[in-house]
Amino acid sequence: MKNLSILGSTGSIGRNVLEIVSMFPERFSVKALSAKDNIPVLADQIEKFHPEIAVVFDKAAAALLKTALPGSAGIDILYGEEGYNAAASHASADLVVVAMVGAAGLMPTLSAVAAKKNIALANKEALVMAGDSVIEQAKKNQVTILPIDSEHSAIFQCIGGNRKEDLNKIFLTASGGPFLNLPDGKFDKIKPEDALNHPNWKMGRKISVDSATLMNKGLEVIEAKCLFGVSKEMIEVVIHPQSVVHSMVSFKDGTVMAQLGIPDMKGAIAYAMSYPERLALKQPEPDFTRIGKLTFEKPDVEKFPCLALAYHACEIGKTLPAVLNAANEIAVAAFLENKISFTNIPEIIKKTMKNHTVAHAPTLGDILEADHWARKEAADLIKDLNVTSIKTAEKKRK
Ligand code: MG
Repeated sequence: MKNLSILGSTGSIGRNVLEIVSMFPERFSVKALSAKDNIPVLADQIEKFHPEIAVVFDKAAAALLKTALPGSAGIDILYGEEGYNAAASHASADLVVVAMVGAAGLMPTLSAVAAKKNIALANKEALVMAGDSVIEQAKKNQVTILPIDSEHSAIFQCIGGNRKEDLNKIFLTASGGPFLNLPDGKFDKIKPEDALNHPNWKMGRKISVDSATLMNKGLEVIEAKCLFGVSKEMIEVVIHPQSVVHSMVSFKDGTVMAQLGIPDMKGAIAYAMSYPERLALKQPEPDFTRIGKLTFEKPDVEKFPCLALAYHACEIGKTLPAVLNAANEIAVAAFLENKISFTNIPEIIKKTMKNHTVAHAPTLGDILEADHWARKEAADLIKDLNVTSIKTAEKKRK
């Protein structure tokens, strides 16, 4: 029996994890659940999976959760960063699933590493922000980090059984998102509902927008660089619209290994949960003769400037990836609230990065500070942008 602590249990990945737990009740037991503030879903999950602790965002959410659980005796309800860290280091957890969205995933990941818990990592931001210290501490504490991100799971599976020193290159595949073939001039007309409508993958809101801007792929380059200890030059992004090849690696003899499957996150999630075993998921294989062709093309960084910004942050490193990530989170949230346009997203990120003074040899404190600074800077830039656009609109009306 593997005991799980699931951080971000009400999100898309978290719900898939629990679905797999339900399919294999003899294999997994849930000891801790955490969410932000989706109380109805969390309360249902608690009644079904009986964790020892449940964690929510703040005191008010904790009070709401208590009232939603009439029979809550015997479960500890915690909140805030302390609560998330408690779930991440819970004594009876064998595997901590970090599936919360955004920068919020960093501290619990570090707590799990410090508590010597193996991690199934879906949160890419923790590695983007502070990958070097997460990986260094994980090595020191002999913690295994199993990637849930489908591309990184694919790379992990392709490298498995080979010597790392024989690795030549990583081909990180990208579907290209819903706007791959949209003409250049139409990008500023994109509405949140268009960006949320991904052609192949069903995902959460933030990551769907990141897929549409290709920022998701950019963050994944930084994630892969940390996870697999390779240089940026060893990672090539390849647009593969069918999403059947989840990623590939090549070795120094020219051999390429690829991992293929239908575009469903359950495969990667289950593999991280049961590694090195494979669960009888009953997922169908890709229907190759129906698919017919698998195609590959170079990404267009002019059309998708977020990818170029991420390459730049990856190159510079230090505090810049954290700044890129924070500015992106703020810009994507503003886009989803219809406050800025789709093309404003890379503009806000680029300006925030430009205004940032990179800290050399940054400590974790410096990285967190850069994250806070970038959030405020991006929010201020959005405010300025809105003031300017209102003024322009007023001028036009006059
Ligand atoms: Mg991915």
